[in-house]
Amino acid sequence: MQVQYDSSINTEVLKDKKIVVIGYGSQGYAHSNNLKDSGFDVKVALRKGSKTFSKLEHSNLPSAELEEAVKDADLVMLLLPDENQPDVYRQYLEPHLKPGASLGFAHGFNIHFNQIKPREDLNVFMVAPKGPGHTVRSTYTEGSGVPCLVAVHQDVTGDTKELAYAYASAIGGGRAGVIETSFKEETETDLFGEQAVLCGGVTALVQAGFETLTEAGYSPEMAYFECLHELKLIVDLMYEGGINTMRYSISNTAEYGDLTRGNRLITDDTKQAMKSILSEIQSGQFAKEYVDDCRNNYQKLHQLRDSHSKHQIETVGEKLRDMMPWIKKKPLVDQAIN
Ligand code: NDP
Ligand code: MG
Ligand code: MG
Repeated sequence: MQVQYDSSINTEVLKDKKIVVIGYGSQGYAHSNNLKDSGFDVKVALRKGSKTFSKLEHSNLPSAELEEAVKDADLVMLLLPDENQPDVYRQYLEPHLKPGASLGFAHGFNIHFNQIKPREDLNVFMVAPKGPGHTVRSTYTEGSGVPCLVAVHQDVTGDTKELAYAYASAIGGGRAGVIETSFKEETETDLFGEQAVLCGGVTALVQAGFETLTEAGYSPEMAYFECLHELKLIVDLMYEGGINTMRYSISNTAEYGDLTRGNRLITDDTKQAMKSILSEIQSGQFAKEYVDDCRNNYQKLHQLRDSHSKHQIETVGEKLRDMMPWIKKKPLVDQAIN
């Protein structure tokens, strides 16, 4: 896999472009401020009456309402929640974007699963930073950056790949490394990771461990500490140095238990289940199910969220975290897992 850095990325192609970033949330805030500090011509566009306009007053970024900002833009970066992007595309972008303009995404879902079918005369690319917006901004101001993935879906003017690399560099990605992928690969691996491992897999594992201990008569407080609280320590070690570093740091007893027991949980059957989760992603079955639920006012999502939020692990955890005030409650605005 080839990694490109600032030294081999030419940002000239972005120099005279009028860039419009739509949205000023997690990613929009980071991209627009980094683009401006890198010396590019950038404006933030929001919907009429948007509450976010007040957040922009603290920046020195020019802002405008969506409809007028889009008309003379050379490059539009769509940084809204993924489920709101198709309507905004249809209402504001499709009728108003200049022929030959470029449309950028930070995630491939809407393009790959045909929720947005961009006009054929547009360049379509992706720059996806591998981190939440506040990290994309804070690393940039400290002189480093977050690695970015780039991909091209439509190339009308012949320089869309160059443009994507230039954009990634302008938001700081070229300091850490820019990797080329495709909309398909980014979208499918992103969904698989969150379903099978990071979110679905981990939460199910933690809950099952908690239930096993409490059903055997152990106290919920002990079960919480052993199956959830200490997860952070393990994850931090894996993040810093992979599984080897984690195993190096834990006791020999823990390491022996890990190496002899883990594969009794994650068996060939589990792998089979992972494969079927992956094929539902690849076939578009998951995307269809999710989009249908979005259109149905998230009925299934809300119902599942509600029932899971009442699990005993949540109530006991709330009490225990009160005893540990150094565990700061993070605002729920910036997602680490997107
Ligand atoms: P946010 O939820 O933070 O976006 C919020 C912004 O979108 C606000 O400015 C809000 O303005 C605006 N907005 C919301 N709905 C609409 C609408 N219907 N019309 C106009 N404006 C609207 O998004 P993220 O930054 O989290 O995500 C943006 C993209 O980046 C997504 O494609 C996501 O997948 C991708 N991404 C996100 C990452 C992350 O960590 N968050 C990481 C990597 C990629 P208002 O006040 O008007 O509602
Ligand atoms: Mg222990
Ligand atoms: Mg995701």
